[in-house]
Amino acid sequence: MNDPAELKELLSVPRKIIITTHQRPDGDAMGSSLALYHYLSQKGHQPTVISPTDYPDFLNWLPGNKTVVVYDKEPLKCKQLVENAEVIFCLDFNKLYRLEELGKIIGASTAVKVLIDHHLDPDPFADFQFWKTTACSTAELVYDFIVSFDDRQLVTKDIATCIYTGILTDTDRFRIPTTSPIVHRIAAELLELGINHTQIYEEIYETFTENRLRFFGYCIRERMEIIKDLNTGIICLETADLKKFYIQSGDTEGVVNYPLWIKGIRLSVLIIQRPDEVKLSFRSKGAFDVNELANKNFSGGGHKNAAGGRSTLSVTDTREKLIAILAPLKNQLNQQ
Ligand code: 5GP
Ligand code: MN
Repeated sequence: MNDPAELKELLSVPRKIIITTHQRPDGDAMGSSLALYHYLSQKGHQPTVISPTDYPDFLNWLPGNKTVVVYDKEPLKCKQLVENAEVIFCLDFNKLYRLEELGKIIGASTAVKVLIDHHLDPDPFADFQFWKTTACSTAELVYDFIVSFDDRQLVTKDIATCIYTGILTDTDRFRIPTTSPIVHRIAAELLELGINHTQIYEEIYETFTENRLRFFGYCIRERMEIIKDLNTGIICLETADLKKFYIQSGDTEGVVNYPLWIKGIRLSVLIIQRPDEVKLSFRSKGAFDVNELANKNFSGGGHKNAAGGRSTLSVTDTREKLIAILAPLKNQLNQQ
């Protein structure tokens, strides 16, 4: 892996830069990408953020959102941008397959690649790595990156807004264990730059449609299964469930957290039928490692307490498979 001083040198003259992130980007993916976009623009570079796919409306207010190019919508434009790029920043993902088709194009590019990420077990596709699994979010690492370039004074209100969004969403509102004292100190600095944290919260968490909120109610009331002896909650969603409430892909964000609101539940799994595959989302509390569970059994990964994966089986059969895998892990799931 190359020395960060070499990257400094490389970025000492204006560069054509791509910033990209994982498919179906979340608040951290978009927040960290746009924060870096604003920073690199200020430094005189020509950055473009490319998202592999579209993302939810509750992120489309982020400063710089209008400049984002979506690969699914404009593949030729994206291919050309990647072809012309001198540097590609890879944010908030650890494996190129998380970019779907765009990952192959990025993989084949000869541009210098820089990984900024906090997921476990990254593949070695980057020339430079700013990687720390103890970071609460990639946004925290982008903040560190800017500071490591001695540019703290370049953190504008727009950059601060983007970084705060990444931190807020990936810590699930300053809740998860990676929310260190440093994270709170960074958040304090961002507040001092004049960000409107109440408005950011409302934009992300309080802009539901009536349908989406009723859908959440439906997921809890009609689709949540609690397996008491495994301290596990499972929510299965079929296409018909999504159609009934006119659910778009980002609208299911957050559903997986609800079973963990029940005292004693250590593991929550959302199994959902997407157009092209069955997607799983895992969340756990304490020592139970969902990165390992997702990696070993569902071609996925992520973090110890939050991971994703996929299945080629139906939703029903995936549920059966999951329960069969969890049964021998009963003791682990019963450790409080
Ligand atoms: P989510 O359940 O919200 O899709 O993902 C939870 C966490 O796991 C996120 O940090 C996400 O980036 C990561 N993740 C989701 N799916 C995958 C996957 O298929 N592979 C890997 N390596 N990480 C994933
Ligand atoms: Mn993240």
